[in-house]
Amino acid sequence: MVNVGSFLIRVPVHFLLSIEPDTMTVQITRFPIDDKSNGWSVMLPTRKPTLSLAEDKEVDWLVIGAGYAGLAAARRLAELQPQSSVVVLEAGVVGENASGRNSGFAIDLPHTSSSVEDWRDQGKRSIRVGRYAIQWLDQLIQQHQIPCDWHASGRYHAAVTSQVSQQVLRQYEQNLKAWGESYEWLEVDALKERLGTQYYHSAIYTPGTYLMNPAALVRGLADHLPESVQLYENSAVIEVNLQGTAPYVRTEAAVVRAKKVILATNVYSPLFGVYEECQVPILLFASLSKPLTSEQLQQLGSDAMWGVTPAHGVVGSTLRLTADKRLLIRQGFEYSPSLKTTEARRQQARAMNLKLLRQRFPQLPQLELEHFWMGWLAVSQNHAPAFGQVSPNAFAISCCNGSGIVRHTAAGSLMAEVAAGMKNPLVDDFLAQGVAKRIPPRPWRDVGVKTHLWWEMWRGQAEQ
Ligand SMILES: Cc1cc2nc3c(=O)[nH]c(=O)nc-3n(C[C@H](O)[C@H](O)[C@H](O)COP(=O)(O)OP(=O)(O)OC[C@H]3O[C@@H](n4cnc5c(N)ncnc54)[C@H](O)[C@@H]3O)c2cc1C
Repeated sequence: MVNVGSFLIRVPVHFLLSIEPDTMTVQITRFPIDDKSNGWSVMLPTRKPTLSLAEDKEVDWLVIGAGYAGLAAARRLAELQPQSSVVVLEAGVVGENASGRNSGFAIDLPHTSSSVEDWRDQGKRSIRVGRYAIQWLDQLIQQHQIPCDWHASGRYHAAVTSQVSQQVLRQYEQNLKAWGESYEWLEVDALKERLGTQYYHSAIYTPGTYLMNPAALVRGLADHLPESVQLYENSAVIEVNLQGTAPYVRTEAAVVRAKKVILATNVYSPLFGVYEECQVPILLFASLSKPLTSEQLQQLGSDAMWGVTPAHGVVGSTLRLTADKRLLIRQGFEYSPSLKTTEARRQQARAMNLKLLRQRFPQLPQLELEHFWMGWLAVSQNHAPAFGQVSPNAFAISCCNGSGIVRHTAAGSLMAEVAAGMKNPLVDDFLAQGVAKRIPPRPWRDVGVKTHLWWEMWRGQAEQ
């Protein structure tokens, strides 16, 4: 552990103790690949990326990764230290990363439910963090007029079977009561009336979730960074040394030396030698339908824009009716240590997305998909974040656990404060569940994760 102000930040011990001087430099061997399939960004006007890094730099702060985490960190650093120089390096183009490929739910409440007494307090603290991030995003969207269909639609957390309704939703209901949160319990007929589907046994509606086009939001955040922040897109870090008084990184074109670095690369962090010991890479698949016709819309429910999250997080499907009247489905949850997949697997996942969407809306037999894509994220075994100081001048954020719009906006902003030596009690709230737990290395990890997911898939198959 390293003491940062009053905050105890857990440092991966191997990083400080066992790395020999000649191995302090890490060569990055794999990079994010943009397959140009992200439906959210394809629908947006063309955006010109920022220039890529062309010359060497010496800066106060270097942030690596321009998703919600990196952009929030850079913005907060600029707010705290307007005279300092801040550079953000992004391997690809903003909006094509997980931050732009997700389902677009900014969720104020914890996803998980628990009967453990501690969860009452931990949940409340997590909600404080969630609302802080939503307020931050809301204020930026209003201030910069970011056109991203940001809307306080709330969220239906839904179970397909009575078994999962009883096991998961009833437990979640108890948690909501303990947290003093308002909610509605809805059964099949009410859901049919509101959403136009009879597929679900029951759902809990909570009002605090915002829905948006995530690619539009993350683009808008990048395009309105404070002046002291320089963002370089198409500037992949190919070599990194996070140790020493002036850590540095190298891209194809230049070197950046920084007094301090914040690593915000989520699923790619292990490639930088960080958080390999605690994070699990997961591949998800999502689709957007063609816009519904007015005849098709008449066969849906009374809600004009809505979102459903699955009570069974591994097997279930996320569902939305978007602002431009398309149906979104996100389904499939796959252990993906290679950060690669095959065309055959993509086609299989696409077919499954369409099948599950049609099963939910049998009254729309003509329903077709227009966009299909995939994206990677990092989860931890104990659902806690990876958040810490990884060397004397480097800090890292990872393990978004699937709710990174809110959690990683908060993580980026809070990490900037920690790195700048500030004390914010929200850091303790953010870490109320602790930090990501160490897991066994591969190949034992492969066996453990695959067995766990296989069991969850088998047990929850009716929740698809
Ligand atoms: C299909 C899908 C659906 C999801 N749905 C939701 C949802 O509805 N709500 C929600 O809250 N979360 C959702 N998530 C999770 C959410 O998208 C992530 O938690 C969030 O985007 C993480 O943000 P981040 O900034 O940490 O990481 P990322 O967005 O992954 O950003 C990391 C950045 O690091 C860059 N990078 C990597 N390597 C290098 C390098 N060598 N050099 C420079 N840059 C590099 C990458 O290009 C990337 O831009 C979903 C994710 C997926 C994939």
